[in-house]
Amino acid sequence: MRIPEIVLRRAGADAVRHGHPWVWRGALARGADDAGPVGAEVQLVDEKGEALGRGIWDPGSPIAVRVWTTGRAPIDDASIEGRVARALALRAWTFDDSTTAYRLVHGEGDRMPGVVVDRYGHVAVLRLDGDAAIVHGARIARLLRAPLEALGVKTLVERSGARASDADKDTKDKGRERTVRFGDAPPDTLTVREHGVPFVVDLLRGQKTGAFLDQRESRRRVGELTMSRKAARVLNLFSYAGGFSLHAALAGAKTTSVDIAAQAHATAQASFSAAGVDPRAHEFASADAFAFLEEAKRRGRTWEIVISDPPSFAPNEKSVPRALSAYRKLHRACAEVLAPGGVFCASSCSSHVDAQAFATTLDDASLGRSDLRLVELHGPPSDHPTLPAWTEGRYLKFVVLA
Ligand code: SAH
Repeated sequence: MRIPEIVLRRAGADAVRHGHPWVWRGALARGADDAGPVGAEVQLVDEKGEALGRGIWDPGSPIAVRVWTTGRAPIDDASIEGRVARALALRAWTFDDSTTAYRLVHGEGDRMPGVVVDRYGHVAVLRLDGDAAIVHGARIARLLRAPLEALGVKTLVERSGARASDADKDTKDKGRERTVRFGDAPPDTLTVREHGVPFVVDLLRGQKTGAFLDQRESRRRVGELTMSRKAARVLNLFSYAGGFSLHAALAGAKTTSVDIAAQAHATAQASFSAAGVDPRAHEFASADAFAFLEEAKRRGRTWEIVISDPPSFAPNEKSVPRALSAYRKLHRACAEVLAPGGVFCASSCSSHVDAQAFATTLDDASLGRSDLRLVELHGPPSDHPTLPAWTEGRYLKFVVLA
């Protein structure tokens, strides 16, 4: 089979050599016209003809090629199986039975560009990012089957959304279509454990593949902070399935969860009950976080721990200045309801806002107070690995100020 060759300009070739998994359309020098249909395997070379690796071609996306191999190595079943095995091995030494929901394959970060597999107990959810990866859905599902079954996964569901325009990791949570790739149809909801804490996951309507797995360690940290500070009142903004609240509640706090999405609190309350915590002893507000904070300030309410975990404010590079001012406004409002001596946990999942820029939205001028110190700065957890050259992958920031 002839593999079409694509010639990259210098900067694009250098990026690929450093291990960046994406080739932007602007980096293509020649060969794009005969690269074949979406999903085709292509050979990347530099302008001197040196082989750089092979990738999957997407004529309709700003990311023209997602790179899988180096040199002239083919993207064959054996190489995909090898990557799956390495991805699963990493999780095997990270998790024990106390955690049954985690990311098994993290796309680019596991050198399987566009392929995400999340595990929720005996169900795994496959999400393919981009039209090119979607073309390979059946093949990838076939190669995943034996290793997933060996782990105890009985069902693989594919939940992919073709979004040719989505070049952004952090804006993708779309695909609502479900295809069962093997096993029985999955239940609409199921209960998993995170560090021993039960969580109800809404597989049918939940965001992302069902839950936000990337904040697992942050949720646990909030539980520990609640415990060690003996915090009585914890405010969880953008609470979704209520994970931060539940860890805080189990550590003894009265929690207030705020989310605008109507169905979010039902899942949260189900998780509270599963964990043996009476949800009626806690506050769940269906509200816009900004409006809630304004009202809370007017009424003089304060909390000893405030958590803010909003959706991405920056879908692209152009929106970064606007996102930074939105973070400043939000963080100022959070600081206004933070009790003296309190702890503020601020998170961002915008890949276009790096940790440095995010910290500027938490400085004294932004917060309007000068008593807080930055005490912890966390990135993505180990089941969301990134590549050194792929800065876009380090989208998650979780900052603790006290
Ligand atoms: N902290 C959550 C994840 C949060 S995702 C967890 O650990 O699971 C972001 C959430 O913000 C979504 O559930 C969305 O419904 C909610 N949201 C978006 N805009 C909002 C707003 N203006 N006010 C309150 N919630 C909002």
